[in-house]
Amino acid sequence: MKIFNTLSGQKEEFSPTGGEVKMYVCGVTVYDVCHFGHALSYVTFDVMRRYLEYRGCKVKYVQNFTDIDDKIINRAKERGVPWRELVEKYIGKFFTDIDALNIKRATIYPRATESIGKMHEVIQGLMDKGHAYRSDDGSVYFRVKSFPRYGQLTHQDPEEMRNKITMLTEDKEDPLDFALWKAAKPGEPFWPSPWGDGRPGWHIECTAMSMQHLGQTLDIHGGGQDLIFPHHENEIAQSECFSGVHPFVRIWIHNGFLQLGSDKMSKSLGNLVTIKQALERNSSDAIRMFIMSSYYRMPLRYSLEALDAAENGIERLRQAFKAEGKNDGEAVDAEPFKARFIDAMDDDFNAPQALAAVFDLVREINRGAEKGMNIQGAQNMLRELSVALGLTLQQTKKLTSDEESKIEALIARRNEHRKAKEWKKADEIRDELAGMGIAIEDTSRGTVWKTTR
Ligand SMILES: [Zn+2]
Repeated sequence: MKIFNTLSGQKEEFSPTGGEVKMYVCGVTVYDVCHFGHALSYVTFDVMRRYLEYRGCKVKYVQNFTDIDDKIINRAKERGVPWRELVEKYIGKFFTDIDALNIKRATIYPRATESIGKMHEVIQGLMDKGHAYRSDDGSVYFRVKSFPRYGQLTHQDPEEMRNKITMLTEDKEDPLDFALWKAAKPGEPFWPSPWGDGRPGWHIECTAMSMQHLGQTLDIHGGGQDLIFPHHENEIAQSECFSGVHPFVRIWIHNGFLQLGSDKMSKSLGNLVTIKQALERNSSDAIRMFIMSSYYRMPLRYSLEALDAAENGIERLRQAFKAEGKNDGEAVDAEPFKARFIDAMDDDFNAPQALAAVFDLVREINRGAEKGMNIQGAQNMLRELSVALGLTLQQTKKLTSDEESKIEALIARRNEHRKAKEWKKADEIRDELAGMGIAIEDTSRGTVWKTTR
């Protein structure tokens, strides 16, 4: 199969057979709930991971938590809560969100603060080789000039990058140098180190955690395009200088931005839709399909119409499982659709093309059912391909607690009318519920209800 490598700027052959795929994806800084941009990134890498597994790979998937950072410290101060409490709260919410999106859990979720020892080892190694230096205040910086390949991922000449930086605010030899260890500031959390009390810089965290759990060379390293510079450029510099092994990463994969209108979706623009809010409106299957309907390296335009279209698409898949053919009829041949699916996904995870093959299979199943053909094998294939993309096809739309209360209230009112033998009014409420996609049934245990879409 071929995967686009940001490092080389082209699609490269990647052999998914044999052994384990070591995959690392940069995780969240846990100071707030996750928004749709996180869903985009983590669903994208989940689809890739699932597909590699579908093709027979064993994937060791590591995704970190940045659990110490300026944002965490500031948010904890604002709220007057201990920073560790804030971190635990948002790690809990992160898992709720990704489970709801049917994102497979990573093999390991290391936390930065649990890898301080490994960071010290890497920083010391870099200092020993002249790749890092301690400043007067007790911070440690990486010496960019000591690494000739710097700029390879960003595809920029370090000299040009340097010219763009006009202010040298910190105690650095070179504007491009970056902090590996930040000297402690009063009132902030710190850890002891050979260079003085302090806390790790952001970039060193991912180098330490990926090396600790996956070794010196990773097969795949993923993240959003906003992480290419400086985060991933710096990860390469630190890792390769420390280990002496090139490349640190065989294939760098970066997903495109989420756009709302024409803006990149970020909290600073206020374009915030949390994953929880998105799941109140649409099923996780629909959200996944919406994300997959756009090629992962392109920007994804957030649109409610497109989410609704994805919801309809999911419903078409569900209906195809309910279609009935004739077991003694001629069998629908699903193999060409599987071949198209694999060709598409093998070509840099082209999920939109893969989905097109899936929907053509749906059409073939429905046509086969009409003609009285045997569609069981084709339905099994449809299930296989759907599962490979992480679709459950079982869940119906989740209701918000407000919607649930409204339904309960309507049912209570209907039961009042029934007691009073006001059948017409009771039936009107039943119709109103049906219009909301709610079916009710009067049983000996009372009235029960379920969603129909
Ligand atoms: Zn990272």
